[in-house]
Amino acid sequence: MQPPIRRLEAVAHCLLIETDHDGLILVDSGYGLADYNTPGLALRLFATACFVPCDPAETAIRQVEALGFDPSDVRDIILTHLHLDHSGGLPDFPHARVHVSRAEYEGVRDVPLWMRWAFARQHWDHGPDWVLHDKDDTVDWFGFDAIPVLPQLSPPIFLIPLHGHTPGHCGVAVRREDMRWLFHMGDAASRLHRATDVHQLPGQHYGLSPMPHGYAARFLGNHIERLRALYREHGHEVTLFSSHDQTSFRELAA
Ligand SMILES: [Zn+2]
Repeated sequence: MQPPIRRLEAVAHCLLIETDHDGLILVDSGYGLADYNTPGLALRLFATACFVPCDPAETAIRQVEALGFDPSDVRDIILTHLHLDHSGGLPDFPHARVHVSRAEYEGVRDVPLWMRWAFARQHWDHGPDWVLHDKDDTVDWFGFDAIPVLPQLSPPIFLIPLHGHTPGHCGVAVRREDMRWLFHMGDAASRLHRATDVHQLPGQHYGLSPMPHGYAARFLGNHIERLRALYREHGHEVTLFSSHDQTSFRELAA
């Protein structure tokens, strides 16, 4: 049984995918080494407000090394969006191609002034090899538009447009060897708030949020009902989790 109150600790869920011939693929990159070593003001405030554990061993690069891989084996990074808590690992893998939706890459320029702090441009100052993905060539994935990323993979990894949280926010769908799908919903859902929890299982949300219900759903992009339907109808084939979902992170990491 889970204790009623667990330690609040931010999770930024990244996936590391090992391919047969294409090296390693990272989905989202969390905070990077520089964010821990020389954090700017925005990062410092964000880390404090969101209970980010300040342990560089938690960075993607250290975790990749701990698994016995060489960081240069990470050839591709797929990002759900460009918020600072998702892009921090980019400078730690400077040779990786970085896949993101074109809407996100181009939309970042137009975010309102009061939201600019959430995008840390120093994360891509090194000039990564961007691969921008358009909505033109989509296929159907359980009723969602799906953009094949790295189409040489079989099945491809899909970017699933779930715009709203940011201009081009996407989920990422990956099929595991056991044929189950993992669906990283990015910040389109959250178990921190009942209105934005697609799983809706009693006892698995904190029910606490500084945000009013309606605003929380809007803030994450208003995809909750579609994602809930996906969970209801295909939960036996698809494991859904969001970036900052501590419960799913612990279940999947175990
Ligand atoms: Zn975000």
